[in-house]
Amino acid sequence: MKRNTLIKLLIVCMFCLLVIPMIASCGTKYTITFDPNGGTLDEADMTLEMGEDEELPRLPKPKRNTKIYKFLGWFEDGDEDEEVEEGDRVRGDMELVALWEIKVPTVTVEFNPGEGALESEETFVEVPQGERLSEVLKGLPKASLDGYKLEGWYLPDGTTKIGLTTIFDADTILVAKWDQIILCKDGTENHNYNAWVDKTLKATCTEPKIRSHVCSLCGYEEEDEVEPAKGHQYGDWVNGQMERTHVCGVCDKSESQKFVNVTKNEGFFEKIELVSGEGSMWAMPAISTLVDGTFEVYATQGGGCSPKSSEVRIELTLKEAQWVDVVCITSNSYNPTGATFQIMLTYEADADGNVKESDPVLRESSFGKDMLPDGSFTYKTSQFDVSARIKKVTLIVPMGNDGQDFIGEIALGCVPSSDNK
Ligand SMILES: [Zn+2]
Ligand SMILES: [Zn+2]
Repeated sequence: MKRNTLIKLLIVCMFCLLVIPMIASCGTKYTITFDPNGGTLDEADMTLEMGEDEELPRLPKPKRNTKIYKFLGWFEDGDEDEEVEEGDRVRGDMELVALWEIKVPTVTVEFNPGEGALESEETFVEVPQGERLSEVLKGLPKASLDGYKLEGWYLPDGTTKIGLTTIFDADTILVAKWDQIILCKDGTENHNYNAWVDKTLKATCTEPKIRSHVCSLCGYEEEDEVEPAKGHQYGDWVNGQMERTHVCGVCDKSESQKFVNVTKNEGFFEKIELVSGEGSMWAMPAISTLVDGTFEVYATQGGGCSPKSSEVRIELTLKEAQWVDVVCITSNSYNPTGATFQIMLTYEADADGNVKESDPVLRESSFGKDMLPDGSFTYKTSQFDVSARIKKVTLIVPMGNDGQDFIGEIALGCVPSSDNK
């Protein structure tokens, strides 16, 4: 063989070895698909076209609530052992699934289909505690049972239906509720229904609003709940001395609230009274931490958003006259701009225990503006020019200042001197 021929042959071989595979591979395109798996990804980042053996570029980062989730990376087919990163070579179509770590405590929500069967293999989900089910599920699991339709998923009590917005605080096993499928004469589900008729015109506290329609062929009556049973329809509050009551006009259920809620130092306290105005007083959960050693009682302006009284006056009476350092008022997050409060002290005026009233001290600050960190206003008793044991604290809440009425709950308390002086 001539030397020239050999070189030509070598060139041809090199061409075959190097160039032909390149041409061939240039023609093969693969699709990389990204599944953010609960997170979100820009539409443009959802797929990537790549050639055989090409190196993956920088991969997109999906978004998700960072308080709850940490992004772990992209994994082929969601397999924890198959992480895929920038620089990895493309060998074929790839389905990359984002995996996440939940950084907060979770609860297990299990779906128990009873006699039926779940469509998916997953029987439970881990939900971040205190978050909605929709945080981890796009839809509720489907399930089937011969001759029945899945009506919904219920809490173990069997009466509370859950949805994607339900929040779970503890591990829960949900149960499936099934509706029997009633067949028509011809053995199919194709009934020939007449028009809907309201069976229950109005939902009440005991009955939901239901409509029904009847099949003209087989007489089957299908019901449909249009509106669930509502809360009780209570009448006006009837105030007693220490509690108030209202009665449901539909089912006669009555509900009472105690006027007084003494949360601390009960021993110092005799009574709390609404002495004037149309407010009401009742037990409320403690709003916030008043200073230790306070009496906490709550009152509210009655009549919702249309207060009628020109003034609400609340009296806190101590069992025995005490040395008091500070008087507190706390509001429950309402912001009646321009509202003013006055505090008046009733104190022992002489050694025989005769009492006298101080002049009211005005506090003009509006709620939200001039508050202590715990949400309360305080009056130091030294502001009153009273150097005596206190028998009674009176809170006066004027109403209707320039239409800026006080609406909401207020707490009144006082802090006895620790050294009783
Ligand atoms: Zn029918
Ligand atoms: Zn009722």
